[in-house]
Amino acid sequence: MSDASRIRTAIDLGLEGKQVGNLIVPHSRQSSAWGSLMIPIAVIARGRGPTVLVTGGNHGDEYEGQVAVAELIRTLEPGQVSGRVIAIPALNAPAARAGTRLSPIDGGNLNRSFPGRPDGTITSMIAHYVDTTLLPVADVILDLHSGGSSLEFVPSGLAHRLDDPEHQRRTIAALEAFGAPVSVIVDEIDPGSGMMDTAAEEKGKVFLSTELGGGGRLGLEALRVAEDGIRNVLAHAGVIEAAPTPGPRPPGRMLTVDDPERYLAARAEGVYRPLLELGAAVEAGQPVAEIVFIDEPTRLPQVIRSGHDGMLWCRRAMARVEPGDVVAVIAGEG
Ligand SMILES: [Zn+2]
Repeated sequence: MSDASRIRTAIDLGLEGKQVGNLIVPHSRQSSAWGSLMIPIAVIARGRGPTVLVTGGNHGDEYEGQVAVAELIRTLEPGQVSGRVIAIPALNAPAARAGTRLSPIDGGNLNRSFPGRPDGTITSMIAHYVDTTLLPVADVILDLHSGGSSLEFVPSGLAHRLDDPEHQRRTIAALEAFGAPVSVIVDEIDPGSGMMDTAAEEKGKVFLSTELGGGGRLGLEALRVAEDGIRNVLAHAGVIEAAPTPGPRPPGRMLTVDDPERYLAARAEGVYRPLLELGAAVEAGQPVAEIVFIDEPTRLPQVIRSGHDGMLWCRRAMARVEPGDVVAVIAGEG
């Protein structure tokens, strides 16, 4: 088997100027025998300098990143750039067109499909192309996520705890530069699951993600955090000049999610009732949610309590829950 990607493009990553085109993924199907799937991509480059890869729509029902990256492609010109920006508004384009987390073609979760396979499903082929063609040429990667249909977040920049102190230092510097009101250092609940994050970090790259809003909506404040954050990271990397700011930015809050017990899950089927607004302060032992049993009205609701002090950083957006559904994440102080 060849390891070469089957994804083609007329975009030349080595050219200067502004190119807007498509990644072309072969997709022979009932309605299109010799058909392809098109994933919009732009490269904006001038002179020598670092490469920043900015992606949205890794999950199709997360919209702030998709809109902010499209805006970046419309507004960024080569004359403003020293180095290179590679921008993809909807990395899992079929999922973005369907407004779903997963690909409607193969059910694939792109952010659980890395490193992917050149001969795999559509989703796996996209992961493989990103892993073998885009991640290796990028110095900084910003992959913009939101809560999707099922979760909602306090709009946040996100990075992971890393083993190498120098790698960690560079990553936290970029996270602080992103400049969200809240930044979170996360230990992933399932780090071996094939995330783009891990694939980039294992290559020694500075990798940032976000959690911006959610609930399947496009949040106004969350979109502003995304748009400002992209520009801030490009300036931090030295690819664009920093925008003149009206004054010193208030320092953002730095929080951590360092313990699987900070993810609180339903233990029964029912309706999730939040007891706190997003962003609320939480004390250990405090009830943060209830599961209500509509078919058994006399049954007491199941109370879900936080095991930690912190902030209600994330909560469920959908009301119906099954056992194992995460209904709240409590982030702790730095
Ligand atoms: Zn996501």
